[in-house]
Amino acid sequence: MNKNIFLPLALFFTASFASAQQEPVELIKETITEPQVEFHIRFLASDELQGRDVGSPGIQIAARYIADYFISHNVRPLESLGSYFQEVPLEKTTAHQDGTLRLGKHEYTLANDFLPLAGENAQLSGPVVYLNYGTEEELEKAKVEGKIVLLKAGLPGEDSPQAWFSAARQKRQLLTEKGAKALIELYNHPQLEWSRLQRYLGGEEMGLAERGAEGTTIPHLWLLDVDNQKLEQLSKSKKLNGQIELSGKEVSSIPAHNVLGFIEGTNPELKDEYLLLAAHFDHEGTTSGAAGADTIYNGARDNAVGVAAVLMAAKYFNLYPPERSIIFAAWTAEEKGLLGSAWYAQHPAVPLEQTVFNLNIDGAGYNDTTKVTIIGLGRTTADEALKTAVNAFGLEAIPDPVPQQNLFDRSDNVNFARKGIPAPTFSPGFTAFDAEVLKYYHQVIDNPETLDFDYLTNYCRAYTLAVQKIAAAAEAPYWIEGDKYEEAAEILYSE
Ligand SMILES: [Zn+2]
Repeated sequence: MNKNIFLPLALFFTASFASAQQEPVELIKETITEPQVEFHIRFLASDELQGRDVGSPGIQIAARYIADYFISHNVRPLESLGSYFQEVPLEKTTAHQDGTLRLGKHEYTLANDFLPLAGENAQLSGPVVYLNYGTEEELEKAKVEGKIVLLKAGLPGEDSPQAWFSAARQKRQLLTEKGAKALIELYNHPQLEWSRLQRYLGGEEMGLAERGAEGTTIPHLWLLDVDNQKLEQLSKSKKLNGQIELSGKEVSSIPAHNVLGFIEGTNPELKDEYLLLAAHFDHEGTTSGAAGADTIYNGARDNAVGVAAVLMAAKYFNLYPPERSIIFAAWTAEEKGLLGSAWYAQHPAVPLEQTVFNLNIDGAGYNDTTKVTIIGLGRTTADEALKTAVNAFGLEAIPDPVPQQNLFDRSDNVNFARKGIPAPTFSPGFTAFDAEVLKYYHQVIDNPETLDFDYLTNYCRAYTLAVQKIAAAAEAPYWIEGDKYEEAAEILYSE
């Protein structure tokens, strides 16, 4: 055999090795192209999917689309789930529709005079006992079993509405434990007006169906008492009797699913560590409007762009497998309160201590196509990889421009950060919540026609390169010393 035959072959192997190891930028450009990025976004944000609202057919189609894309790119289902879909048990609770409250000779009506903070439909009566604010001390020594307890809302020296809500929770819990029949608090908060409270407590609420932890609670009402007149009358009444009737509250379960898959890492030393690439795929559904008006919240920026970036990364890592393993996730019900990711954080398919990093995407919108905004830049040791990857595509990585809004704690990543997992959010470039961003943010005009696909393709490429670098790094990213989530990380990763 002529030895020269080996020469071109050797060159070939060197070249292909070099291209896989040293030129991911070029490979990413070849793999992640503008028509494909546009295709994903246009499908997910199409009018036909009707805004991908939780519980709607539109979001089911989006979930199927994501799972089928995983199939076609060899992204496998996580073994513990056995499929691409993780069921998220959601339930929708409607407010009470009817109610009356009688205290002695006075009768009050639902909404106008009182609002239920907690409790199911009920019909009960009993003696009323007034116990001032109901501090822990006051409640501990009082005999409340079988009684309706009347209190002033809030606690002495605690003025914010949030403090009133948290005081309410504590009092309710304690009185439930002590066998009280119901709790009524006289409400007169100067900042949180009754009309706002009516809207807040009177609508529908969606949550995770995990009622076991808190258990059932006694009915708990806030009774409006702007000028303290009721306090004057009721606190002095002796032998006061109370009666509460509440009806029309309904709880229904809502079908919802996270979509998940994984690609195994190639490095035997690193493949038991997982990166979690994630973006929520739900949005706000539709609104009512005049005939012919746009009524669909397409959610192109929020968050079809994010899902497209995750799908494009899956395509790349199928062709050029990562060293660490990668989980690809599309969360449901982010818009309802980060519920899909919360469920996964409580019920992970791979133990959380093996999940070393979460790179989340959530898109409020963008106003600067020379930048990528990384919420959490400056807080983890992933900074260098993130910045270099963004620069490689001619973009600049900038940190959160509005730290006072605490965006880090307002998207899905926070459910993982709280567990200790370093978890920045990689967003299209925005330098402020200005008119350009607000024009689209949670508006029906956030549709694919208004996007710059050339920029978004580069953005998707930068995301994949950042992940490629982090997946191959000798050390997994960690929190910068002193970060508020560092302590959680020490607990999580010490196990
Ligand atoms: Zn979003």
